Amino acid sequence: MATKISWAEDSWNPLTGCKKVSPGCRHCYASWQHNRMHANFPHLYGPKFEDVSFNLDHLSKGNDPLHWKTPKIVFVCSMSDLFYEKHTSKQIEAVLKHIEKTQWHRYVVLTKRPERMRDFFKNCPIPSNVWLGVTCEDRKHGIPRVEILKTIGTGIKCVSMEPLLEDLGDTRLKGIDWIMVGGERVCNGRQGSTTALKPAWVRKLLRVARKDGVAFHFKQWGSQHPDPDIGWTRNVVKENPPLDGKVYAEFPNDPSFGGRLTMGKHASKQALPQNVVPMKWKEPTDHFNVRMPAQHLDTGPLRQLANALIRVSDWVREHADRLDDDNNTVVVHEVPISERRPTPGRRVGSPRFESYAELDAAIARGEVKPGSEAAYRANVTRYLKTQRG
Ligand code: SF4
Repeated sequence: MATKISWAEDSWNPLTGCKKVSPGCRHCYASWQHNRMHANFPHLYGPKFEDVSFNLDHLSKGNDPLHWKTPKIVFVCSMSDLFYEKHTSKQIEAVLKHIEKTQWHRYVVLTKRPERMRDFFKNCPIPSNVWLGVTCEDRKHGIPRVEILKTIGTGIKCVSMEPLLEDLGDTRLKGIDWIMVGGERVCNGRQGSTTALKPAWVRKLLRVARKDGVAFHFKQWGSQHPDPDIGWTRNVVKENPPLDGKVYAEFPNDPSFGGRLTMGKHASKQALPQNVVPMKWKEPTDHFNVRMPAQHLDTGPLRQLANALIRVSDWVREHADRLDDDNNTVVVHEVPISERRPTPGRRVGSPRFESYAELDAAIARGEVKPGSEAAYRANVTRYLKTQRG
């Protein structure tokens, strides 16, 4: 399912259902969505949020990464926690097997239950295209999770610091490859208090990330965010906002995933000033490929301009032999209308037949369409009158 999360390109929910475990779950998006979705998709969402649904066997093509041909960064179980106690080992194994089958994607598996993740992977290999991660919202619950994560496997490891609820103190990130930082948010305008994310906490994490060589992804400020003019304000949550004037939308360096990670979904766009749309230069051809977002520009005048340019280029190509390179001019010999040569054998302005005899002969030869005779005869009459007059 397409996602708005700035560090992922798709989310995939082979399992749903979960239970709140720590303060980071306070405004859990999954539980809020569950209550909404259960009414429409009861087979995908159990009666209670705590109930588990195993969806792998009845995923539609659009929701199955096997059918996504383009490599993507996929967030696994955005509506659950893969290592939730109620998910059986067999279900988790089935999910991991499916992940292994789709080596062209990279899967982000985040958990707030790293103990079970560690125990599970003692008996099961970690697929090479999985990036394991934990959530770290505060010192008490988050830091022990990070320490456990450091001991699991050797692949890419990430820490989601969203919602970040306090200053993480003297945290060190050696052994971690990627952190995603964000504030606490209330889903879709619901009422409820949230903890404001302080810029100082984020700056400190950025400094640590730079020191320990960790990719830094600043996702969003949360429902309350600092406004430079009026202090703290509540507003629509924006993905990848600037921190001190700079956007941080970095991705970990996974060599097996190519240079693609320097061009994350939003990273490439955010690096450009607002409203600038990247356009690739192409060698000029006989058509123009003008791509602009419709919401920003009226494309009508652009299309007219492109058509005019095509006409000019056609004209230049046609008259290339008249280009005078020494003087940077085009030599055009315009012929006055009066001197233009008429069609061979016929004077300018003369009708097709100049006498009734000519017309009759053509009718006899079958050269005049039936029904046109009267019009030709009227033409001849008019012509003869002008000749007489
Ligand atoms: S672990 Fe994640 S999915 Fe489960 S309740 Fe907490 S926030 Fe929601």
